[in-house]
Amino acid sequence: MSVIKKSDYRVTSIKTSAVYVSAASKNDKAIKTRSSNVAVLAAAAYQILRDEKLLVLSDDVIIRVAKTKKVNNKGAYYAEAKVVVVDPRWSYESIMQTICHEFVHAEQYYEGRLKWEGNTQFWNDIPSRNKGTTYSTYRQMPWEVEAFSRQDSLAEQVWQKLIALNVISLEWYQTYIGQ
Ligand SMILES: [Zn+2]
Repeated sequence: MSVIKKSDYRVTSIKTSAVYVSAASKNDKAIKTRSSNVAVLAAAAYQILRDEKLLVLSDDVIIRVAKTKKVNNKGAYYAEAKVVVVDPRWSYESIMQTICHEFVHAEQYYEGRLKWEGNTQFWNDIPSRNKGTTYSTYRQMPWEVEAFSRQDSLAEQVWQKLIALNVISLEWYQTYIGQ
């Protein structure tokens, strides 16, 4: 009943093979359904973020729906491999915010505002000493400040477009996301 069908959305700008579920979750039915929904939502969000010019993104980002390594992590972005990881175990509302958050990082790297040189991370060409070792310092990193400040509004714009495109119904949105 809560399954979003792939055929409901034409995924044209990314290969569907780029979206996959981790092997460890393959026998868990609830996780499988959710992962499949998250994969469709993430693929659609990626296309919408580009089509609507909400973010500047390359067309070769890979989306991976998988458990993140740390219990409290919701997602990750691996700049070198251009991989967005989204953990399907959170609420759909939180998941979409995470997808948008990680794509903000993808934009930061794509535009060169954020980069790695050796072991040093640069923000606008200035080396960062903040390693984000505590939650508080992590939240103070400028690229995280930006990602957290943009994620909710981007997620809301993506949800509205998903409703407009009939990828999800208004009923689904009201049930899972609220109003
Ligand atoms: Zn982040």
